[in-house]
This record gives sequence, structure tokens and C-alpha cells, in this order.
Amino acid sequence: MTPISITKFADMTVKHNKNVNRQELIASLKATLVAKKNGASCVLCGAPIWAAGSAITGTDMCFTCTTGEADDSEDYEIV
Ligand SMILES: [Zn+2]
Repeated sequence: MTPISITKFADMTVKHNKNVNRQELIASLKATLVAKKNGASCVLCGAPIWAAGSAITGTDMCFTCTTGEADDSEDYEIV
């Protein structure tokens, strides 16, 4: 995955989702990133969570369980 800062990811997401509140999204991203660093695991398979995706869906899940795809090379992860 491509590393991206929380603010850049929030800007990008808000650009494509006009109904997303940027400040709330940033708060969620910070929270999921902390959870990931503390070892949060996917509720479905137990793999480490995809923090960027989990912040948006509101559920701790890994990339594959969130998107149904195995290839994460074109996606972003907050750092
Ligand atoms: Zn999973």
C-alpha cells in the first residue's frame, strides 16, 4: 500500500465524498491508526486492520475483507 498522511487522506476522501465531515474523518483516522498500532485485528479474519478503510466503514477490518480484493498495491494506508 502507498503510505499517506492522515490529513492528505482526509482531503482526498472529502474531495470524492462531499457528505463526509473532514474533522470527524480526521478524528476517526487518528483513532483507527492508534488502534492498529495497538494491535487491532480484523473482526472477520484476525489480520491486522486497514486503518484508512476501517475509519471510513467504522468497523475494524483488514484490506481484503473491506474491499474483497487481495491486491492492495493501488490503495493507501495512513501512517
Ligand atoms: Zn480480514
